[in-house]
Formats: sequence, structure tokens, C-alpha cells
Amino acid sequence: MCKKLIKYAISHNAARAGIFPLFLRQTITTVPDIIQLLSDHIANQIAAGEVIQRPASAVKELMENAIDAGATEIQLVVKDAGKELIQVIDNGIGMSPTDARMSFERHATSKIRNISDLFTIRTMGFRGEALASIAAVAQVELRTRIEDMDTGTRLVIEGTEIKTAEPVATAKGTNLMVKNLFYNVPARRHFLKSNTTEFRHIIDEFTRIALAHPGIAFRLFHNGAEQFHLEAGNLKTRIVNLLGNSYEKNLVPVEETTDLLHIRGFIGKPEAATRTRGMQFFFINNRFIRNAYLNHAVMNAYEGLIEKEAFPFYVLFLEVDPSKVDVNVHPTKQEVKFEDDRLMYTYLNAAVKHALARYNIAPSLDFSLSAEIQQLPSVQLPSTQQNREDVQKGYLFNNFTQKGQAHFIDKNDGLKHWQELYAIAKQPGSSDNAISLPSQPTLHADNDDPANSKNALLVQGSMLLTTVKSGLMLIHIRRAQERIWYERLLEEWNSGNTPSQQLLFPITYETATADALLLTEALPDLARIGFDIAPFGPKTFIIQGTPTALPSGEEKNLLDEVIEQLKHGASDAVNNKRSEILLTHVARRLSRNKQGIHQPEAQQALIDELFACTQPEYTPDGKRVFTIIRREALDEMLG
Ligand code: ADP
Ligand code: MG
Repeated sequence: MCKKLIKYAISHNAARAGIFPLFLRQTITTVPDIIQLLSDHIANQIAAGEVIQRPASAVKELMENAIDAGATEIQLVVKDAGKELIQVIDNGIGMSPTDARMSFERHATSKIRNISDLFTIRTMGFRGEALASIAAVAQVELRTRIEDMDTGTRLVIEGTEIKTAEPVATAKGTNLMVKNLFYNVPARRHFLKSNTTEFRHIIDEFTRIALAHPGIAFRLFHNGAEQFHLEAGNLKTRIVNLLGNSYEKNLVPVEETTDLLHIRGFIGKPEAATRTRGMQFFFINNRFIRNAYLNHAVMNAYEGLIEKEAFPFYVLFLEVDPSKVDVNVHPTKQEVKFEDDRLMYTYLNAAVKHALARYNIAPSLDFSLSAEIQQLPSVQLPSTQQNREDVQKGYLFNNFTQKGQAHFIDKNDGLKHWQELYAIAKQPGSSDNAISLPSQPTLHADNDDPANSKNALLVQGSMLLTTVKSGLMLIHIRRAQERIWYERLLEEWNSGNTPSQQLLFPITYETATADALLLTEALPDLARIGFDIAPFGPKTFIIQGTPTALPSGEEKNLLDEVIEQLKHGASDAVNNKRSEILLTHVARRLSRNKQGIHQPEAQQALIDELFACTQPEYTPDGKRVFTIIRREALDEMLG
């Protein structure tokens, strides 16, 4: 409709210039008119500003088009964080020669035919604007072919104008290249952030789209290096492939159906929560959204299970009747309003609590209190054998009594003991506050503190045994060191004041071309953990200093490993998790050194340092550092 308007206005303009009768022209010239009609090109450029703000917005639009076209394989190729090139290749239905031309017209869409489509489909954001907007601010080259035709179409478009249109031999599907984004809008081009930042935005979009479509295979190349290679699979494999293998063991499934909505997805175990936000995704009807209120519903379910500053992982898909939500379809916003958001909150909160409880991570708390929650089918259903087995393998199972099992939700019993369970869940391994968490100010006054016990026993060279009020405490030395190093490095990282052990003989370090960029980008972060590395040629670096306590000869190995970690955690790395990867890995590496642990002073120092940590009970990746063998258990053993 709008397009017609523009056309009309253009012909009207033309009329002014000559077709109108003379008397009219005279009125036009005698009364000064000041309204000018913007050219198509300028109008498109202005509109483009709304839709395409940065390379990542173009990535999103192009990938969504590929999905809409029914593609089962989608490749994203990016150069210079999308500033030079964004290319999306799909094996979808492709376009006929006419459709190919049409697709770049503003308000040209194949996805809305009538007003009823408009109602259900508007939540998907079809506006027929994306390609027109992109073509207004970049040089575009399209190759596309539909299955029924032998030849495809090639179009080259610059500043909205079709420069070339010709038949071409090309694979079925669409291959769209967007070059030199904002080449004709210098102010916008200038406004773009560093490559690292822009590429991070691209990965964010890529990740969201890949999570929402696990049945589609995706690949992402940046400057010639493959960053992601995601096979088609299910949500779980998709999460693991995107976010890293370490997620696998930490995923807890969520699945609830209510009259209002269907919730499915995965949440992270509390111990996998991280210090940086990032791995939190809501999808409403398969579209990524942000919503602080729903986020609160999830966070609330974790209350008491994670530290205040920690962020749990979640990927949750909410399906709602589209008439009950108002998704703001503005392409750059991801906001949403619900008809009944309080009920949404309650359901979501219950679903997360319930998932944690089923997997025996948290006691089920107030399940017996809320009628809504009791209605959830999975509250009513008996647990499956698989659930039971999973639970029995778990750590908490072995620490809770059968009756206290959070999993066995007994409506009548109503979990009278939840408070007690809760206390235990917060302090795994401690039954009667034998160890206060260091966050509690009583720690050092408490003569129960293992740091006060002077005699530790070295067991098999790898564990320390010491006494505490409630029994015996067994500490895993390497893991304890890992925790200590992690917190030390974290502190240095945060203070920006990291000592570096300077090498007497700097070491030359060669990388693969693909890794050079990764390493270059990581240099400032590496400096924050004590690496002093200088670039020296395109793929060569000079290691001048390393984190303190790194045994000599280990420099290259550690760097190799770090690069490997960064590659596998590529998505983490760009979601501000690079610190997490670096710190965890380097801490693990440094913790291998058990030198001197035979000396009682070293043992005591280790215990002291461990319990000065904010999180002594787990390693950064969630393994237990120590356990307590309770007095009663010892008595029992001895009959
Ligand atoms: P919208 O997606 O809102 O319809 P776009 O400007 O993104 O608007 O695309 C315009 C039209 O071009 C689409 O409706 C579709 O018919 C066609 N199109 C765009 N990209 C592709 C593609 N990758 N494969 C097939 N057709 C496409
Ligand atoms: Mg589109």
C-alpha cells in the first residue's frame, strides 16, 4: 500500500514538472511550496537506519529469510566483522527471476497475503523491508535459483539500483552477499564499533537463531576460519555444540504444559552459574526476546542456590497463543507484552523450581502452597525410572535421606523439612554448620574452621585429611589449588594489576593463520592473567612473560591449550566469557603443581587459602573440592 503511495507521489511530482495545466503550474510557482518528496533512494536509506543498525542486524534478517525459505543448511560467511562482507548461503526454495528483482522493493513480501495472515504472522516481523533496507546501504549481489529452473538469476545492486541482472548457473537456493555495509552513509559506517564488538553482536544473533532452529545445520566462517559447524540435531546437542561440552552435564530439562502456555528447554544446575550474564535466552513462539520480568521469575527460582552475583544458564522456549502476546515487531527490539503476565511469571517460576526439584537440586519448597503449581501435570505425574536413576547418581541423593528427597513430592507431607533441606543444599557436605561459608562473617571466629586445625595428613600424595567438629574433612589437593588459583587470577583480572613472570629468553610462538586473529584479540585479556605477548608478524608472536608460578617449558603448551579452549568456547569467548575460559583453564594448569605439599606449612597454607576463597566447596567447573565424613558415619563404620 505504501509503495503505491510512493509511486503515486512520484507521478504527482512528475505532474508538477509539466503535465499539469498551466494555471495550476502558475499557482504552484506563485505560492512557494516547500515540501519535497524524498527520492526512493533517500527514503530507503532512512528506513534502513531503523532496520539495519549494524552488521549483526543484516545477519539476522538474512538468516531469518533463509529459514523462512525452508533451508535445511545455512552458511554465514563474514569478513571484517561484517563490515566488508556478510554472505548467507542457503538451500531453500530460492527465487524466480521476477521474485529476485521484486524482493528488493520496499514492502515486497511473499509472507503476507491478506489481513488474517497479518494478524498471526506479524509476530514474526515480516515487513518486506529488510532486503530493500540492506540494498539502500550496501553493495548487494544475489544469486538464486528455484528447483524448477535450470538457470538461476544474478543481480548486482548498488544504492538501490540494479546494475546487473543476468542468468547464472548456481545451486538451488539463495546466496546473498552484502558488501561494504554503509559505504554510502559515512556517518553510520563511522559509528560502527571495533571488529571484536561487531563480531560479538554477529555471534549473538547467530547463536539465538541457531538455538531456535536445532533442526537446521549452520556454519559460520569469519575471515576464512570456521567458527561454528553445527550439525542438525536436537536442542540439547545444539546447546552443547554452541556453548561448549562443559554444558552437557549441567543441563536440566524443563517441560511443562498449562492452559496458558507451554514451556520447554533447559536450565543450568546452580553450580554452573557464572559471574557474567550472557547465557540466558528466552524465546516466545520461537523468537528471541528479552524480558526482565520473566528473567526475574527464573532468577527467583534459584534463590538461595546460587550466589547473589551469579547468573544461571537458561534456554527456555515459551509457546503462547499469539493473540495473548504482543511482540513488538520492530526488528531491532525484542520486547514483548503478555495479556496475563503475572500468571506467566507464576508458571515459569514454578516450572524452573520444579525442574530443579525433579533433578534433586533444590528441595521443592513451596510446591504444596500454590494451587497453580499443583495443577502442573508433571507435578502430578509419578517420576519415571530414568529420572529416578539420574537422581540416584547425584551427589545430593547420597547426602539427603530418602524421606528428604526433594524429588518425591508428597502433597500431604508438604515437605515439612524443607528448611532443613534448604540449609543443606546451600552448604553441601556440611550437616551442622561445621564449615561456615566465608561469606558469613563468623568464619574466622569459629573454632570449627578447618583452617584452625593444625594437623593435616597427606593421603596418597593427593588428598589432605583434617579434623573438623562434625568429623573428618578430606580435601582434594589439586582441586583446592584450582579453586585458589582461580580466585587469585580473578582478583588480579578485576584489579587490572597482574604480575607477570618475565622470561629470560623470550619464546617465539607460531600459530595457524586462523588462530592468529583469535590470539590477537585475546592479547589484552591474556595480559590480565599475566601473559606478556607481543605480535611479531602475521602469525608469529613473542612470549615475553607468563603467569607467575608457571613452570618453565610449559609456556607454549599453555598457550596452545588456551587457544584450543577459546576456539571451542568461541561463543563463550565473545559473550564476555573469555575471562571465564581463560581463568578456569589457567587455574587448572597451575594447580597441577603439587610441589612442596609434603611440608606441613604448605599444607596449612593451602587449607588457609582455600577457606579464604569465596567458593571453597567447588572448583570453577563445579567439581567438589572437599567432603566431610561425619562423626555418625565413622561410628557406624566402626560398628
Ligand atoms: P520479509 O522477509 O519480511 O518478507 P524481506 O525484505 O526480508 O521481507 O524479503 C523479501 C522477500 O524476498 C521475502 O518475502 C521472500 O519472498 C524473498 N526472499 C528473501 N530472502 C530469501 C531467501 N533467502 N530465499 C528465498 N526467498 C527470499
Ligand atoms: Mg525477511
